[in-house]
Amino acid sequence: MSTFAEDIKAKIRKNMSGNKNALKAPEKELTTEDDRGRRLWDRGEYHKIAQNRLKVDMEKATKYGPDANLEKRDLPSSMRDPVQARMKKLDMESGIGKTKAISFENGNNGKGSGGYYCSVCDVNVKDSRAYLNHMNGRRHQRNMGFNPYKLPESSVVGVRQVFAERIKKLEEIKKTGPMTFEKQQAERKAQAEIDEEWHKKYKKECKKAKKRKAAAACESLEDPLSASVMGFASFGAKKKH
Ligand SMILES: [Zn+2]
Repeated sequence: MSTFAEDIKAKIRKNMSGNKNALKAPEKELTTEDDRGRRLWDRGEYHKIAQNRLKVDMEKATKYGPDANLEKRDLPSSMRDPVQARMKKLDMESGIGKTKAISFENGNNGKGSGGYYCSVCDVNVKDSRAYLNHMNGRRHQRNMGFNPYKLPESSVVGVRQVFAERIKKLEEIKKTGPMTFEKQQAERKAQAEIDEEWHKKYKKECKKAKKRKAAAACESLEDPLSASVMGFASFGAKKKH
């Protein structure tokens, strides 16, 4: 082997110690042929591959929160959706004036350990400022399936729509008179009630979704492992133990 190739390999080994496997050739062929030319699969090796894949799936199902967009999350950033504005107001005020005990459940980071919980990333943060930073942060946006550096392009139609909405609002004000303090307070109160209702529902849905995901992950463990990887499921493959 030329010294040049050796040098490159040494460099890669030194700087990418975690990626050594990329340099290695596969240790042995996973498929062989018998004397009649039919393919044979190394069941033991495929079993290992299937188990590794399941492990990754399990990690994915439990590492992120029930609301993470797992399909889009792992796409390259250029293929993820442009970042979108939040449709719902963040619940920053429900904890005002309350005292909460912080527990060390799940390494002080799990749901129910106090503070603010993000159901997309399955993390807890301790105060509203950190929560807001998290919600606007790169990791959270990625788990939502968005690319935080990509903005939706505005179009002529969109701009016209915004103008139309503004004109409509202006006409409404002309009809009903200007906003008064009392009106504003009443509106805010009504909105707060709606928001609270929504948050209650949302929390319930989070719980349900997490249970569903755990159940699905357990179920996939019951599948015949090697069969699913080799595409043999329809041939009545036996379970491996
Ligand atoms: Zn998050």
